[in-house]
Amino acid sequence: MKPINNTKIVLALTSILACGLNAQYSLFYGNLHSHTSYSDGVETPDIAFAYARDAAGLDFLAVTDHMEHLVPEPWNWVLAKNSAEDFNVDGAFVAIAGFEWSSPIYNHCNVFNTPDLLSVSTLWDLPDFYSDILDAQPAFVQFNHPGEDVTLNWNNLAYISPAVDSAFPLIEVKVFEQDSFYRMALDSGWHVAPVANQDNHSANWGTKNDSRAGIWATALTRESLFEAIKSRRVFSTQDKNASVWLELDETPMGSTAERRSLMRLRIILDDGGGEGWSSITVLGAGGTTLLALAPYPSRLDTTIEINPGSSNWIYLKAVQPDGQWIWSAPCFLMPDPLGETEPNPSDRPRSFGLDVSPNPFNSAVKITLDGVGAHLAPALVEVFDLNGRRVAQLPDDGSVGTDFTPALNDVADNYERDGASPSPTTRCFTWTPDETLPSGVYFVRARFDSRSLSGVEASGASVKRVVYLK
Ligand SMILES: [Zn+2]
Ligand SMILES: [Zn+2]
Repeated sequence: MKPINNTKIVLALTSILACGLNAQYSLFYGNLHSHTSYSDGVETPDIAFAYARDAAGLDFLAVTDHMEHLVPEPWNWVLAKNSAEDFNVDGAFVAIAGFEWSSPIYNHCNVFNTPDLLSVSTLWDLPDFYSDILDAQPAFVQFNHPGEDVTLNWNNLAYISPAVDSAFPLIEVKVFEQDSFYRMALDSGWHVAPVANQDNHSANWGTKNDSRAGIWATALTRESLFEAIKSRRVFSTQDKNASVWLELDETPMGSTAERRSLMRLRIILDDGGGEGWSSITVLGAGGTTLLALAPYPSRLDTTIEINPGSSNWIYLKAVQPDGQWIWSAPCFLMPDPLGETEPNPSDRPRSFGLDVSPNPFNSAVKITLDGVGAHLAPALVEVFDLNGRRVAQLPDDGSVGTDFTPALNDVADNYERDGASPSPTTRCFTWTPDETLPSGVYFVRARFDSRSLSGVEASGASVKRVVYLK
């Protein structure tokens, strides 16, 4: 094994971390995309579930017939859901009934965890589809076969909003060419993870090929698999018993780690059949190679220090001597505070301070910005959760449930209300989280980009970690 670039192996850490975060999860293999005669496949969901369980040995199967076939025959949707209930046995086999939203323009998506179908009019209206998914929460969605058949892949995976993002945890990466769409989604800002499914249209649910969706879950139940999918502890493999696990500074793949210049990346690559790896690559934003390892003959379990640069995500892909690929979920990173603007240091305020108190806080936290200057406009204060999702922002554009008072640009008001901050370069305000927000660690990020009266451009950002305890 030979790491390249600015990396080094941290052997001591490997033994410290030998138990790994993945020890708390079990690994399950299955298929999240298949059809029956209820659309353009064969047989019934009963036969598909029994076959996947008994002939293919899958841990889970989702039957996902085309929605436009189900809408005129809604009894088939009811039958599919009843069949999934019949075949779903905790600890033995998870049966899922979803449907495939099959737009002739925008490509297809599998929709899971909804009681109802969507309106067929959404097939021609991508914004409508996204908003109907938000209305159908806790529904979650998978981008299907990117790049196949159609040219408009969800408007080139244009990012919509954190709320839509959080309902789209999966993208199919079944063949090497789809790797570029995975990167395109990540570079657009989506928090997606890859799975390989079979999209069966014949009686071969699980035996069409060796491709599998791998899921690291706490138990073989529908609830646990859905939790693991929404946390993106998944991977795509063309080998039916290969697996990959990544963690970055003890944050499991699929989640968001706090950014540091040197981070500990743990890689576990395994193959149940004893195959090795002919190439192992860790990629970052834009497809940059952050790390390349030489061929490795067997199970690899190592911890390596890497510099993520300004990338907001990294993932691993590896190939076996027989040409079968595996793709990990991404490890996400908190946005680089200075990554989007590289101002001349002399233009930065001398003391741009961000303070949060009390910390931990119980119901409301006071956020103080110091040294921003009197001519600030516009400024943006955002709060992110550990998954990198924005849960609050100021000014509030109404897209996130929150309550910030007073408005940052309401400077005069602010002074009167807050006698403790008399400095003209200080801004104080209070964040009261929406009551639906859970206790936990959040990141307050303040950014500004302004032109002062003297005409000097100034920009900068600062991030503070805050703990919310209800
Ligand atoms: Zn399709
Ligand atoms: Zn399909």
